[in-house]
Amino acid sequence: MRFDVFTLFPELFVSYLDTSILGRARQANLLQVNLHNIRDYATDKHQVTDDEPYGGGGGMVMKPEPIFAAVEAVLGAKTKTPVILLSPQGRLFNQAVAQELSEQDHIALICGRYEGVDERVREYLVTDEISIGDYVLTGGELPALIVIDAVARLLPGALGDPTGAMTDSHASGLLEHPHYTRPPEFRGWEVPEILKSGDHARIQRWRREQSLLRTARRRPELLNHADLTKKDKAFLEEAKEREPE
Ligand code: SAH
Repeated sequence: MRFDVFTLFPELFVSYLDTSILGRARQANLLQVNLHNIRDYATDKHQVTDDEPYGGGGGMVMKPEPIFAAVEAVLGAKTKTPVILLSPQGRLFNQAVAQELSEQDHIALICGRYEGVDERVREYLVTDEISIGDYVLTGGELPALIVIDAVARLLPGALGDPTGAMTDSHASGLLEHPHYTRPPEFRGWEVPEILKSGDHARIQRWRREQSLLRTARRRPELLNHADLTKKDKAFLEEAKEREPE
């Protein structure tokens, strides 16, 4: 899968993309991330990429010409590649959107800065807008990394454990069960007996139940859309009776 990222600060991406799972996915050629500096496409002497807003008020707005020039130089003028603007006004990013994007083989991401980009970029260049949450950041670089990260770990082969991404929180519509590793006892706190029992079926059931309980306690609204079996529903009913809210 290939991402083309358009930004004024490509250096912000480098160490994150070089490290751990993303670094490995790029080395294995599962993931390609091309960074393009929008400033390189500004044609005036000072390579200006932002200007004052029409109508007054504070802040600067990113000019349309260098952004159009950059995207068109890299993707061609008539591309089918989705061009996504990171924006606090976009549709909210979640695991389902990550899944949807992971089915593409090529995506372009535009990172805004300052007050954001000239509206004509949004209207005539961009095909989708994504927000990573209801808060405002100084730029689209962290949001772009978040999108790349969440999408990359869904690519087949990116994670060491091929089933890892399927049981993750939100992938199944539920929060994931708790995890433990060695030592079996730490400061007197023990790993649940069942996880050390070697009884695979019981461990699976325990994990499922923990996942259901956690979701019911922390994010009950997720249960409305989760894939629940009869057994799951009966378990949740019973749990409710045991500890009424
Ligand atoms: N004035 C704009 C916010 C500009 S923030 C407004 O009120 O809508 C500057 C840039 O940071 C944006 O252009 C966008 O690319 C990025 N950004 C900030 N918050 C974001 C968020 N929650 N999700 C995605 N991108 C965001």
